[in-house]
Amino acid sequence: MTMVFGRPEEPELTVTRTDLDETCPACGGTAVQGYPLLEVTGWCLVARCADCLHVLRREPSPTPFGFSYVPYSAHLR
Ligand SMILES: [Zn+2]
Repeated sequence: MTMVFGRPEEPELTVTRTDLDETCPACGGTAVQGYPLLEVTGWCLVARCADCLHVLRREPSPTPFGFSYVPYSAHLR
């Protein structure tokens, strides 16, 4: 059996979060961050408050370069 992906070198995998210059409507904080997320329906871009975890936006996004995963839901459309 061939392994398609090698074992990661890092002990933990994290996603890079970008600080957005926005104010959270739920708590009034300014710790709003944007990052990509893979859901059952596919990739999306999320804007979320790091203080209260309120989700400001969740928009469908094209598959990032280098990823070939096709979510199961794509076959149901
Ligand atoms: Zn908030």
